[in-house]
Amino acid sequence: MDWIDLRSDTVTRPTAAMREAMLRAEVGDDVYGEDPTVNALQQRLADELGFEAGLFAPSGTQANLLALLAHCQRGDEYVVGMDAHTYKYEGGGAAVFGSIQPQPIVHAADGTLPLEVVAQAIKPHDPHFARTRLLCLENTWHGRPLPHDYLREARALCDRHGLALHLDGARLYNAAVADGVAPRAIARHFDSVSVCLSKGLGAPVGSVLLGTRALVGEARRWRKVAGGGMRQAGLLAAAGLHALDHHVARLADDHRRAAQLAAALGDVPGIAVAGQHTNMLFIDVPAERLAALRQHMDAASIRLSIGYAPRVRLVTHLDIGDADIAHVVQAFHAFARAG
Ligand SMILES: *Cc1c(COP(=O)(O)O)cnc(C)c1O
Repeated sequence: MDWIDLRSDTVTRPTAAMREAMLRAEVGDDVYGEDPTVNALQQRLADELGFEAGLFAPSGTQANLLALLAHCQRGDEYVVGMDAHTYKYEGGGAAVFGSIQPQPIVHAADGTLPLEVVAQAIKPHDPHFARTRLLCLENTWHGRPLPHDYLREARALCDRHGLALHLDGARLYNAAVADGVAPRAIARHFDSVSVCLSKGLGAPVGSVLLGTRALVGEARRWRKVAGGGMRQAGLLAAAGLHALDHHVARLADDHRRAAQLAAALGDVPGIAVAGQHTNMLFIDVPAERLAALRQHMDAASIRLSIGYAPRVRLVTHLDIGDADIAHVVQAFHAFARAG
């Protein structure tokens, strides 16, 4: 059975052309720094995003962890959103592996961290307090690109207080395509950026951390410690390079389909569209109807993200076409009629 899987953009499978590229990849031992395809991927992203160096990591969670470990020492602190991936969804890795304390901040309605609240959270130099070292942002935020003015102001705040600024840019390319800017126009505000190749870009595995040569050197050391040193990883890096060549401009198709889905579901009785940005759509369904919704969608071979958050999430991606969107809209109308 072929599922229409809207749970996440992580579910994409490598295309035939991507598999070909992986087969053809030249490889070497990347722990020795000798895999030419990994080196090419790291260099390409560093050049594209305006950094000195890059480091291929097996996951976005690890790329963010390496950034935290490279920026912060034991007893340091990072300021981060209450619902941010780098705080809430990474198993507390910074605390577990780095003895780094998070200082979570409540998000504004648009997902930003109010900078006056961030400023208040920065601790004075005093042995009572952890040393505030880093601010972490996430772009896109639940699909929403962060405003460029906000990024500029966040950079200025960090400069005033001597903090480093890290971006969890799992979906940085979605933000760039939606904003109609080069990805480096976003990345330039940050000291380090992590980018996921395995989300909307459609690679099976992999993220890249970008930063200065010194920061990436430190991150490389922690990657080995964390067990993330991979050997002939060029097979995977080749998928990433293919994704960057062929799957960036088409993110606009995902955004268009998510918008079409939002518009169509807005007409379905009992479904409230709570928001749609780039490739993500959130809907509200009465809590007592959620189990029925899951059952109904299962029967229609549709998977949605139900039950992880208060809202139902639908994410468009490489493996979702126009016919799939039409099928999903029909399924929602049938669900409304059945209720
Ligand atoms: C997916 C994701 C990550 C990294 O996730 P992995 O599954 O570890 O690759 C980090 N941040 C955000 C916002 C994400 O969506």
